[in-house]
Amino acid sequence: MVEKRRVAVVGGGIIGAAVVRELTQRLPGAEIVLFEKEREPAAHQTGHNSGVVHAGLYYEPGGLKARLCRRGVRLLQSYVAERDIPYERCGKVVVALEEEERGRLEAIHDRARRNGVPGVRLISGGELREIEPEARGIAAVHSPDTAIIDFAAVTRALVEDARSAGVDVRLGVEVTAIETAPGAGVRVRTSRGDERFDNAIACAGLQSDRLARRSGAAKSPSIVPFFGQYLVLEPRFRDITRGLVYPVPDPKYPFLGVHLTKRVDGAMTVGPNAFLSFSREIYRGLGIDVRDALETAADPGFWRFAAGNLAGARRELLGVLSTKKFIKDAARYVPAIEDARYARLPRGIRAQALAANGSLVDDFVIQHVGPVTHLRNAPSPGATSSLAIAEHIVEHVLERHDLKAR
Ligand SMILES: Cc1cc2nc3c(=O)[nH]c(=O)nc-3n(C[C@H](O)[C@H](O)[C@H](O)COP(=O)(O)OP(=O)(O)OC[C@H]3O[C@@H](n4cnc5c(N)ncnc54)[C@H](O)[C@@H]3O)c2cc1C
Repeated sequence: MVEKRRVAVVGGGIIGAAVVRELTQRLPGAEIVLFEKEREPAAHQTGHNSGVVHAGLYYEPGGLKARLCRRGVRLLQSYVAERDIPYERCGKVVVALEEEERGRLEAIHDRARRNGVPGVRLISGGELREIEPEARGIAAVHSPDTAIIDFAAVTRALVEDARSAGVDVRLGVEVTAIETAPGAGVRVRTSRGDERFDNAIACAGLQSDRLARRSGAAKSPSIVPFFGQYLVLEPRFRDITRGLVYPVPDPKYPFLGVHLTKRVDGAMTVGPNAFLSFSREIYRGLGIDVRDALETAADPGFWRFAAGNLAGARRELLGVLSTKKFIKDAARYVPAIEDARYARLPRGIRAQALAANGSLVDDFVIQHVGPVTHLRNAPSPGATSSLAIAEHIVEHVLERHDLKAR
């Protein structure tokens, strides 16, 4: 009798869950195990983000982000329709406040058109007010296709599907290393013992560099955690905007800037900012983890990055230290919120890949080392793109290892 193919997937965030689903569809009959170190799926980035289904405005045409974001939106739309998960196509405006931002706004519009974003338009300040009566600005890019969703709910549905398709979902089990086994296949070392598989796919988010290094993959890129704080506005501001209101992002930073974001539960939030995090996985309080902080401080690439980004860091720090300043900045786009009362929400922590030369890696990074695949950079729009990233990874693994043959 021919033995079944065994594939291990590490990480029960939205991308690991999507990879598992893709494997069940493309490799029926294989034995698939999903390892997640937490007791529930979506405990990290997937459960702590803005919940925006990005339409593909900003990304370098032809790059993985641009391609997988557009494909991801289409796959996500059909998945949520099939699973009856709320999806609200509320639209978004990226707003320029000053003349000096106009050139950058036009560049975003140009990229969006080249990326095939449906319905995207460059609009005047007057048209902006027709779309978002409370917003102010001299010009904007309008993307009617941008939507909101609960990515943790999508992940739970993907994991449910995986279980129904026979996947062995092991929560509370940490993978400590993935070793290439002598002969063929891999040995997956876990907190509950070791096991052999034919292939392993690691989607470990904030821990992706550590797991990759422990598994003998390249040292670079490393992960630098950047936290993002969110405030929720008092209920009378729930409908202050119809859709999402974003600033024109700083081109030196891969983050999109503090925005007004509706959530699918109706809450209106402001955030996230972006500042160096002293931990990878602590969401409340001061959020300091000595090991995580020392590891960042020992990374020469980090100091190269820091030296070139002092102005941006100073600007972000002011918003971190004062929630009033945070709201005031957002109120430049929607003045009515200036005096709103608000409460803090748990922060999100981004797994941002850093190259050895100190530059933040913009595109998604997938490394294949023999039968092991490491997803090493999947920042925003990673959740939007998750089903397409899964399709891309699994396609590659199937071709490379001729898995269809067995
Ligand atoms: C503040 C913020 C805002 C964002 N906003 C958006 C947005 O609006 N739209 C969008 O598309 N994207 C957004 N993103 C990006 C998006 O959240 C991520 O791209 C996406 O969640 C990545 O999914 P993942 O599965 O790779 O990572 P994660 O969700 O972090 O999952 C990784 C999982 O791996 C597990 N794990 C790690 N190491 C091990 C191990 N050794 N053994 C077992 N399990 C392990 C972890 O416990 C975790 O559950 C945002 C991110 C942040 C932080």
